[in-house]
Amino acid sequence: MLIESLVKSTVELQGFRVTTVNYDGDQLEAKLAPDRRYLPCCGQCDRPAAYRDTRRPRRFRHVPLWGIPVDLCYSPRRVNCEHCGGIHVESLPWVSGKRRFTRALMVTLATWARVLTWKQVAVLFRCSWGTVAAAVDEAVSHGLAHRDLSGVTHIGIDEISRKRGHVYVTNVYDLNTQVLLWSGEGRGLQTLEAFFNFLGEERSARLQGVCCDMWQPYIDIIQTRAPQAVLVFDKFHIVQHLTQAVDQVRRDEIRDKGAEHKALMAKTRYIWLKNPWNLTDGQRVRLSELETLNLKINRAYLLKEAFREFWDHGPAAFAKLYLDRWFWWATHSRLKPLRDFAWMLRRHQEGLLNYFRMPIDNGIVEGLNNKAKVISHKAYGFRTAKCFIQNLYHCMADLPLPRTMHTFV
Ligand SMILES: [Zn+2]
Repeated sequence: MLIESLVKSTVELQGFRVTTVNYDGDQLEAKLAPDRRYLPCCGQCDRPAAYRDTRRPRRFRHVPLWGIPVDLCYSPRRVNCEHCGGIHVESLPWVSGKRRFTRALMVTLATWARVLTWKQVAVLFRCSWGTVAAAVDEAVSHGLAHRDLSGVTHIGIDEISRKRGHVYVTNVYDLNTQVLLWSGEGRGLQTLEAFFNFLGEERSARLQGVCCDMWQPYIDIIQTRAPQAVLVFDKFHIVQHLTQAVDQVRRDEIRDKGAEHKALMAKTRYIWLKNPWNLTDGQRVRLSELETLNLKINRAYLLKEAFREFWDHGPAAFAKLYLDRWFWWATHSRLKPLRDFAWMLRRHQEGLLNYFRMPIDNGIVEGLNNKAKVISHKAYGFRTAKCFIQNLYHCMADLPLPRTMHTFV
C-alpha cells in the first residue's frame, strides 16, 4: 500500500485513484482508475460531462523512482459534452495535451536542463532530445506568463554573439534583480523595438534608468519609447571602445614602421591593454623600457590610463571639466583612433555624464554574459536561435517553474 501512496503523492490525481502498482523487474507500473465520486471532465472545456465510453489503455512515463522507470497506465474515458458540444476524451490532470510524459516528469526534465545539457538530460531520462526541448519550452512559457515585471525600473541592454560572431542576440537585463528580462534575435533597431513592444507602454513609462552602448539607433528608440528614463552609457562598453582604439594605434604603428618595429612590439599587446595592476613583473619591466622610446602606442597608453580617472571625478560638473581636459589632450595627440574615440564621447557627452547622476552600469551583465556563453558552448544542437533564446530564458531569467505535486530541490 505504501508504494501506491507514494505514486499518489507525486501525481495530480483529483478524480482518479491508484489501484495497483506492479514491479516486473524492469519497471514500476501504476494502474489508475477513475474515482467514481467524480464526473469525468471534458478535455476541451474542462467542465464535468456525461460518460460515453472508455478507450484503450494509455501509458504515461512518470518520474523514475530510485532509478526505476515508472509508468502510469490508464484507460481514458470519452464524454458527451453539452458545453462545447460533441464527443471528447476526458481531461487528465497529470498530463498536458497528448503528451506521453506526466507533467511532473516534464518539470523534472526542465529542472535538470538548467544544469545539464539537453543531450545529457535526454540520456539520463532515456527520452529524446526533442522531449527535453519541449519540456524547456513548456517551462519557459509557463515562467514567462507567471513572472512579475511590475518592479522593473532599471534595465541594461547588451548583445552577445552566437556561432562565433555570426548571429547576434540582444539581451535586456533587469539591473535590480540581475536577471534576464528579454532576449531577441538580432541587434538592430527592430530588435529593440520588439523589446519595447513586449514591455508595453505602461511598464516603459515606469523605467527610470537605461544603460547601453553609445549607439544611435538604440538612443533614438529609448528616447522615443521611454523618454523619462535617464540614459546612461555603459562604462564597460566605453572602456571596450577605448581599448580597441589603443589596439588600433598599436597596429597602425606596426604597419607604418615595418618589420623592425613589429619585432619590438612582439608580445606586448596585453601590456598596453591590460590594467597596470594585472601586469606580471616581467611585463612591468618591459613596459618601463618601452616607455622611454617615445612611441605612439605609449602616448595612447597614457591617454587610456588617464581616462580611467574620469570615473572618479564626480559629480557631473567636475567630471565634465576632467572630460574637457582629456578631450583636448586626445584630440591633440595626433592619434586618429583616440581622436575618433574622443569625438564619439563628445557626441554622447550627456549620457556619459549621466553616470554621475545615476550610477548604473552593465557590470552585472558581464557575469550573466559569461553564463550565456557557457550556455551557447554547452548547447549541442541549438541550431535555431529560438532554442538558444529559450535556454537563455530558462537558465538566466529566474522564471518560476510550473508547480507540481512533486517538487524538487
Ligand atoms: Zn467540453
